[in-house]
Order: sequence, then C-alpha cells, then structure tokens
Amino acid sequence: LTFSLQAKMSRPVQARRLEGIDKNIWVEFVKLAATYSKVNLGQGFPDFPAPDFLTEAFTRALSGGNHMLHQYTRAFGHLPLVKVLAQFFEKLLGRDLDPMTNVMVTVGAYQALFCCFQALVDEGDEVIIIEPFFDCYEPMVKMAGGTPVFVPLRPNPPKDGKLMSSADWQLDPAELASKFSERTKAIVLNSPNSPLGKVFSRGELGLIAELCVKHDVLCISDEVYEWLVYDGKQHIRIASLQGMWDRTVIVGSAGKTFSATGWKVGWVVGPNRLLQHLRTVHQNSVYHCATIAQEAVAQGFQRELTLYGKPESYFVQLPKELQQKRDWLVQSLDSVGMKPIVPEGTYFLVADISQFKSDVPDVPNSDEPYDYRFAKWMVKNKGLAAIPLSAFYSEAHKNNYTNFIRFCFAKEEATLKAANDILQKWKQEKTS
Ligand code: PMP
Repeated sequence: LTFSLQAKMSRPVQARRLEGIDKNIWVEFVKLAATYSKVNLGQGFPDFPAPDFLTEAFTRALSGGNHMLHQYTRAFGHLPLVKVLAQFFEKLLGRDLDPMTNVMVTVGAYQALFCCFQALVDEGDEVIIIEPFFDCYEPMVKMAGGTPVFVPLRPNPPKDGKLMSSADWQLDPAELASKFSERTKAIVLNSPNSPLGKVFSRGELGLIAELCVKHDVLCISDEVYEWLVYDGKQHIRIASLQGMWDRTVIVGSAGKTFSATGWKVGWVVGPNRLLQHLRTVHQNSVYHCATIAQEAVAQGFQRELTLYGKPESYFVQLPKELQQKRDWLVQSLDSVGMKPIVPEGTYFLVADISQFKSDVPDVPNSDEPYDYRFAKWMVKNKGLAAIPLSAFYSEAHKNNYTNFIRFCFAKEEATLKAANDILQKWKQEKTS
C-alpha cells in the first residue's frame, strides 16, 4: 500500500539543462500549416521530387540483392559514403582528406550540429551566434552548458529605391570583434545563411577568420546550402582561409543538397583533432544513420563527382532552377507591396510586412511578437504559411525584427503560382 501511494513522483523530472528551451517554433508552425494552409511556404523542404538518379540508387540499395545493406554499417559513416565525401571535399578544399578521420556521417546536419556542440563546448564557454540564425543553435549551445553570445547582421537599406538584397545585411566589424574574449570557444557561421539567404563575402569571412585565429576560437561552419547560390555568386568555404582548417568543422546535408530532406543524411568534414571528439558523441548517442540512405547518397555523390562543374550536374542544375523560383516569388511579393529582401543564396526569402499592418493590427504589450501574430493570421485567414523572422533571433533582440516573415521557395511552379494568386487577391481586397 505504501508503494502505491508513492506511485506518482513528486520530485522534478526535467533535467536542468532543458530549462528555458522547451518552446519550439517548428512544433507550433508546422501544426498550423498542416491544419490551415492551402499553400505552404513555411518549413524548408522542396515539394518537388528528389532527382531520379538518387531515388533509383535508393531503390537499388533496397532491393538490389545486397542484403547486408539492411544491417548495421560503420558507426562513423558507411565506407562508400565517407570515401566519396573525402574525394569530393578534397576537390572543394584543395587538400588531402582521410575518409576515416576527416569525415563523419550523421543523422542530418541537425545531429552534426548536436555533435559539434556536445563535443566542443564546456560549461561556461561562450559561443558567438550571428543573428538571424537557424534556431536550433541556441538551445544546442545551452544544452552543452555554454552561453550563446549574439551579434546581429545589421541592415543598410539601399538608397536608390532598389529592392534590398541579403548582401545589405552586414556585420559591424567593431561590434563583432567586441564579442570575442578569452571565454569564447567557438563561433557558428552559416553561409549561405538561413533565413536571410546571405552569402558571406571573402572579406566578411576574412574578418571572422582573423578573429578566430587571434582569439584561438573554433568555427562551426553550417554550409548546408553550399550549392544554392545565385547570380553567379560563389560560396567560399571558411576552412579554406589561412589558419582556419585546423579550427573549423564543416557541416553539410544531403537533404538540402539532393532535395531529400526526409532521408536525414548529413556529415561533418574537418581535422581529426576536432572530429575525434565528435565521434565520441556520435558513438554514444545514435551510432549511425540508415545504411541504405547512406549507400544511395554515396552513389549520388559518385555521379556528381563524375559530372563536376558540367551542365548535367545536379549541383549546377538545382541552383539554376531555384534562381528562377526565387525571381518568381520576388516578383509576386514586390507587386503586392510585401517588399522582399532578395536572397543571394539558400531557398528562403525574407519579406517586409509593414504595408500589411492595417489587416492585422498590433496588440500593444502583447507577449507575442507582431510577426508571429501576422504569420498565424495569414495562414488561418489566407491559407498561406510562412515563418516569422523574429523566430530566428534571441529573446533580447526579437522585438527589433517583428516586421518580416520568411518564405521557402523550393516549391513547384504551381505552388508558387497558387501563392501568387493568394497575394494578388489579398492586394485587390485591400484596395477595393
Ligand atoms: N542547418 C541549417 C541552416 C538548416 O536550415 C537546416 C535544415 N532546416 C539544418 C542545418 C538541418 O539539416 P538536416 O535536415 O540535414 O538535419
């Protein structure tokens, strides 16, 4: 009897490291989009199919007779995949790589990031995060016991009445330098950056690299959108800058690279002195990701290695197609007065909702940032799903960025047309 009286636990069950990180934008907005949206330009995934060569490779791996592909593979990455990733990144970085020690395969870029923070960040360490940022960096730093230190990209509106570009959002060099101290363990760089689509220039990367070297700081370089750059811009890998290889972990994603986000295959590339510790985290948490998905991604990379730089390469074709989609969405938004910030990369676009404020009035002193209210209203009343920009800012800075929402344009032409129809109709209703 005494046992049954005690069956309900009264002591706290939540580990302290989860305090304050239990709210998550995606849980709420993915549900809203599923419930209300007619057109979903919210979460970042393509609604067009992954390329045939990739899905065919998956089918072959699944039923091609090698039954061992249904079993465990090497913990730190299926051999064919780490080998081809090493070959591929040797080309990109211009240095020799050992597939066994310089590459590790993860469950998406998400788990790659988790391994980085768990393996490299200690209690009391500071980690610099550039705002706006992919939202999981902050809770991941906190779960590792670290303290995030935020530095914003600051917008400089163009004077000539042109549309703003993601390149107009820049770091203030003095402000950035002021965030580095002896407590700084790492900086997270995300270029091309979600949500803005900013592609950091060589000069900007040089500045970050110089500070990393000066203060002996690591760089966690999230490059999941490395192939998605437009207008002839070039993605520069910070690991290729002087003094940076030894202190940088490159994070990548087959989901983003091959338009197959559900496969959850990601990787890290970097020096063994860093990766050896990521392997410890990986080994003691997930062990490895699905063998068949790794086999298929390996074949995808093999194809891309053969076609490298050629017009048939998926890494050449995909950005071409996405640039066209970006331009369609830019045009739609611009024509209704929801001013887009033209992205140089990624498949996201941030737009200014100031001119639509009369439709969704602000509630003074509300706990909820205006852009959250706007995005919720829009999906419920117009059927169009997007993500509020302030979700990509720290608590302290959220309130400075509540006039923007983020759209994903990795969508079929028909989806983007349907979004345009909604926007045009809305505009008409406003003016009539
Ligand atoms: N980094 C960034 C910047 C992302 O946008 C995403 C996906 N939204 C990830 C990492 C996670 O990638 P994956 O789906 O491969 O886990």
